[in-house]
Amino acid sequence: MAQGKRDGVLIAGGGLAGSLAAIAMAKSRPEVPILLVEEGDTFGGGRTTVFFESDIDEADRWLTEPIATQNWEGYYVAFPGNSRKIKAPCFAIRGADLDRLVRETLRPDQYRLGTKAVAVRDNELVLLGGERIKADAAIDARGAANLSMLELGWHKYFGREYSFSAPHRVDRPVLMDATVDQADGYRFVRCTPFSETRMLVEDCYHSHAPELDGNLSAARLDQYLAMRGWKGGTVEREISGTLPLAVGGDFSSFWRVGGARVARIGLRGGFFQPTTGSTLPDAVRNATVLTEQRDFAGEALHDLFEAEAHALWRRRELQRSFNATLLEARPEDRRAVFENVYRLDAPLIGRFHAGRTGVLDRVRLGKLVR
Ligand SMILES: Cc1cc2nc3c(=O)[nH]c(=O)nc-3n(C[C@H](O)[C@H](O)[C@H](O)COP(=O)(O)OP(=O)(O)OC[C@H]3O[C@@H](n4cnc5c(N)ncnc54)[C@H](O)[C@@H]3O)c2cc1C
Repeated sequence: MAQGKRDGVLIAGGGLAGSLAAIAMAKSRPEVPILLVEEGDTFGGGRTTVFFESDIDEADRWLTEPIATQNWEGYYVAFPGNSRKIKAPCFAIRGADLDRLVRETLRPDQYRLGTKAVAVRDNELVLLGGERIKADAAIDARGAANLSMLELGWHKYFGREYSFSAPHRVDRPVLMDATVDQADGYRFVRCTPFSETRMLVEDCYHSHAPELDGNLSAARLDQYLAMRGWKGGTVEREISGTLPLAVGGDFSSFWRVGGARVARIGLRGGFFQPTTGSTLPDAVRNATVLTEQRDFAGEALHDLFEAEAHALWRRRELQRSFNATLLEARPEDRRAVFENVYRLDAPLIGRFHAGRTGVLDRVRLGKLVR
């Protein structure tokens, strides 16, 4: 990649959203030059992302199919008054598989690893060390940045991937086990089985504060394993993180932060499901929307993704009310907010997860958040 002016699209940030956008462009619009610039040494952020079939339009599934290596027919939820197996196909993408797909799909001259973009302008990247690359457009996909314009709660978690000496007998993800003691907002445990003996178990909270005491969560995971009778678990890896849950805020100002009219996708553009913090559904949609463009000028892409982000923000008002209700409810009532959602029919729950509820859905769900 020569320094200077080139045609096509530059993407800063090869995490979930940037990688999917680059793969989609390379596969569907090979005539448009792209360059994906990632500061780390792998693409995709190295995380495991779980999602539901209903999160993604059928027409867009070609993008996730090669990397959705793990799949289940449905999942469990457990609350004190309602435990349920929900039939809804779900999948997991491993970070390593996304990394592999980027390297297989893009030519070596279409990406750079270990390269930090210190500034992203509408049609230019400035790299650490001073190199400038100009193109028709640049897209900022560098993950979460200044979220101060938004009123947020947090989905925070501490998880351990265990390998057990005997089968754990969990045949599909336990999306929420909220039968556990409540603490720090709404607490639940999530289990994602990767094989008969290997499973990720996460101590999760929907809370006002993003801080998490990893030692306390580790002790709570030990208790949970003992309670479930899972013995001999060797910890293969630990993860922790926080995902934003939108409650309100000034979304227009959020998009104006920094001043420049730069196209943004992923968390950088506020593309997340307000109640789960999940970004994959919007990342897939934005990747395919990008491939449908005729005009790859920076300004045009900025206007496109700003309009998409605002439309989703307006449509997801109900999810924000849901978060407000959850976070403001009396501690003893918080669990009931989610428990009532998971009493609904599976397709409606699917649309709720995807952040794509229709008018009638919103009427039904609205009754739960008043
Ligand atoms: C452990 C964990 C589990 C998760 N599970 C799920 C899940 O099941 N479902 C779900 O939807 N979401 C999940 N998430 C959240 C999901 O990973 C994030 O929402 C998602 O990664 C956001 O995508 P993004 O592309 O906006 O940002 P990221 O994936 O964070 O990507 C941003 C990329 O930009 C790079 N970067 C940053 N600054 C620069 C720079 N200056 N120059 C160049 N590159 C830069 C970073 O290295 C990174 O690779 C999980 C997150 C974690 C941490």
